[in-house]
Amino acid sequence: MPATIYYDADADLAALKGKTIAIIGYGSQGHAQAQNLRDSGLNVVVAQRPGGPNYELAKSHGFSPMSVEDAVKQADVINILLPDELAGDVYRAAIKPNLKKGAVLMASHGFNFHFGQIEPPAGHDILLVAPKGPGHLVRSEYVKGGGVPCLIALGPNASAETKKIGLAYAKGIGGTRGGVIETTIAEETETDLFGEQAVLCGGVSELIKAGFDTLVEAGYQPEMAYFECLHEMKLIVDLLYQGGLEYMRYSVSNTAEYGDYTRGKRIITDETRAEMKKILEEIRSGEFARDWILENRAGAAMFKSTRRREREHQLTHTGRQLRKMMKWIESKEV
Ligand code: NDP
Ligand code: MG
Repeated sequence: MPATIYYDADADLAALKGKTIAIIGYGSQGHAQAQNLRDSGLNVVVAQRPGGPNYELAKSHGFSPMSVEDAVKQADVINILLPDELAGDVYRAAIKPNLKKGAVLMASHGFNFHFGQIEPPAGHDILLVAPKGPGHLVRSEYVKGGGVPCLIALGPNASAETKKIGLAYAKGIGGTRGGVIETTIAEETETDLFGEQAVLCGGVSELIKAGFDTLVEAGYQPEMAYFECLHEMKLIVDLLYQGGLEYMRYSVSNTAEYGDYTRGKRIITDETRAEMKKILEEIRSGEFARDWILENRAGAAMFKSTRRREREHQLTHTGRQLRKMMKWIESKEV
């Protein structure tokens, strides 16, 4: 079934006129959405904890950042744009006790709604408007007169009015200029987690490491392995981004294309596909969410030690040296 997609003409900013929108967290998404909404003529307040650069950024953008409690008390629409693993705690401590009658709760990712970490009392609808791009792009496209496409989804039993608020919100951040795809909170949450685990982050990281290790163990220089297995990933991804698999395969050499068709399926085997199904099932059953929530309750001990160990891989050291040789790369160090 093709998706339902909404554009500018399907959304009316009037649904948010006279209402106050609280943006909780002035990070990647928060800074972009708050400014776009304000530039669209809507009334925005920002909650941002003091002491860090985002507090100063909010001030320099002309907002008067306040506590979560104070922002929520005056808001008709509250968008929680905090790190997902912290949002539940902030919701329970500072948002839930201060909700105005009928206030709508929003997020840009469904994790906490779908897995029961944010369960507002009766009379408060849940609404998801999720830009399909990072905050800086949400802002820069809007300023240029364009917009990053968004997803929209409503919580169970949400009213028709809440849907109008959602479309108005998406219009306010520029989303309806690109197109707003209707989905469900379950679909957004499950596909987002699956994508990052199986393909984008988990899949790609392990693929790069396995390729690099194979070459290095066979006696090739790590510099060569880095170029072939990590650096050149960008060239391929750029082609994929512009024209899909067919354009990538059209652009690379015939030799590369032949190698792709005849060797790729030996890397992503039936066993890999079966494992992908298991990973999806762990997401759908809530097993992954439970693991991640408990991990955070335990101070993220395993998460932090794994992060440290992963950074000791030879790729880190080889990459640091090679990136210095390529001045055009805006090389980043963690
Ligand atoms: P960021 O990490 O960029 O920003 C988080 C914000 O939360 C910052 O303002 C930060 O303040 C604040 N914060 C962090 N810890 C605390 C705390 N303990 N108490 C109070 N405030 C805190 O988050 P993102 O913008 O990346 O993500 C926000 C939401 O948007 C998430 O639900 C994410 O899934 C979703 N999303 C993100 C996308 C992206 O590309 N980044 C894309 C689509 C959706 P401080 O600066 O002081 O730490
Ligand atoms: Mg995602």
